Amino acid sequence: MSQTLFIDGRWEAAKSGAVREIRCPADGALVGVVSEGGRDDTERAIQAARRAFDDGPWPRTPAPERGDLLLRVAAALRERSEEFARAESLDTGKRIVESRIDMSDIANCFDYYGKLAGLEAGRLVDAGDASVVSRIAYEPVGVCGLISPWNYPLLQAAWKVAPALAAGNTFVLKPSELTPHTAMLLMEVLTDVGVPAGVANLVLGPGPEAGAPLSESPDVDLVSFTGGLHTGRVIAAAAASTVKKVALELGGKNPNVVFADAEFDAALDNALNAAFVHSGQVCSAGARLVVEESIHDVFVDELVRRAKGIRMGGPFDDSADTGPLISAAHRDKVTEYVRRGVEEGAILRCGGTWGEGDLADGFYYAPTVLDGVRSGMSVVVDEGFGPVVTVETFTTEDEAVRIGNDTRYGLAAGVWTQDAGKAQRVAQRLRHGTVWINDFHPYLPQAEWGGFGESGIGRELGPTGLAEYQEAKHIYQNIKPQVTGWFPDREG
Ligand code: NDP
Repeated sequence: MSQTLFIDGRWEAAKSGAVREIRCPADGALVGVVSEGGRDDTERAIQAARRAFDDGPWPRTPAPERGDLLLRVAAALRERSEEFARAESLDTGKRIVESRIDMSDIANCFDYYGKLAGLEAGRLVDAGDASVVSRIAYEPVGVCGLISPWNYPLLQAAWKVAPALAAGNTFVLKPSELTPHTAMLLMEVLTDVGVPAGVANLVLGPGPEAGAPLSESPDVDLVSFTGGLHTGRVIAAAAASTVKKVALELGGKNPNVVFADAEFDAALDNALNAAFVHSGQVCSAGARLVVEESIHDVFVDELVRRAKGIRMGGPFDDSADTGPLISAAHRDKVTEYVRRGVEEGAILRCGGTWGEGDLADGFYYAPTVLDGVRSGMSVVVDEGFGPVVTVETFTTEDEAVRIGNDTRYGLAAGVWTQDAGKAQRVAQRLRHGTVWINDFHPYLPQAEWGGFGESGIGRELGPTGLAEYQEAKHIYQNIKPQVTGWFPDREG
């Protein structure tokens, strides 16, 4: 029987005995068989995390010691990087070179929070009264439910696990049912470096079963979710009944604005990266190319030519530039999304096809360019989460900003121009959580990440990413207590 749930320091099977086969999206090969947990299992994990928080040593461990332990996690991840990268590539189908970059980013994230953990010892407040000592203490929130998606399985989990641990919380992690293996390996590492039993728990299984108790349970104090908008709404609504803290990262419909005076080759190359890296399964994908009308034809012709040359292939195919989509269901969704766009009037310039021949066993979808789209079309409004870029044009700076902000989302945007003043003006006016100028996609563990509008609530990474996992407590001490006389001392 598969024992792949990690609860209270022990590997366990799902109570129901159910299992799930994990298959590589690149070719359908069996990668592993894992427990398929349900509500009972997650409840058990929540209670373990609750006990570890209420009675265990972790929340009371000095913050610098917790930080040291996170640094050891980073070192262990670097040591086992190749093993982790292979596991990530087999679960997601992404190229091994991309998984290696992810593993390096993950180690950096643990390093960052390891170093930050002991730095902030609270704050003294000047009460304006010499007889008062007032201070702010930062305490852990409690038990955290961490729900992560399949596109960057361990990276998205690490953005939650590292600050949650740094702040002294305990947690239950629920990765996507499709991509469990690196989360299992992370539990091994956390145990090896000495995280106490019950602090880190892992449940696997479908979101509506194994994930739902993390937003519903009164014993969970915070739920942090990365995934789709619809699921984010379900989770926020469920969390409202117990007024728990909620952090949501729900993707975006991210404009990549290219002015005519941009450095052409760099803008073109990065427009490809923005849209097609990891086959567009990126919350910050630059899926809306917004290009100045005067260069539209030459820019889009070149984009189409280059997109047609992108090679698809499996994780270990050195000649491949990008991999498959995560599942047959997701490929169907992307197929329907493009079909609807064309029906609404978009011009299909390239792509829109599935992988054939050697690729027929995987969920490949060719890089796709949809030209001539207009505001309000479904392909402009909805997140596609596939290798699909739409093209809109503008003639003025104001119009570029208006189109860039014409979305209910607000996660990320790019601006390409050699005019520094224009770049700053446009960046200031774009209502997105990250704006890249003459670049696309880089992020830093030191810099906050998150969205305006329906891209979510809260921020991950940076100092705010730690603050999300802390409660600020005001401790006020009167060192010269006196009678106030507010209520006169008289007989009743
Ligand atoms: P979901 O948002 O449904 O899944 C993300 C995570 O949430 C998974 O671990 C999932 O579990 C879990 N989950 C699902 N329902 C619940 C629930 N009721 N309670 C708790 N946890 C739950 O992503 P999908 O795979 O359905 O993708 C849908 C769309 O979301 C994509 O097409 C894309 O547009 C977007 N997306 C955005 C991401 C981002 O980075 N912002 C990442 C992934 C998707 P399980 O999968 O195991 O059922």
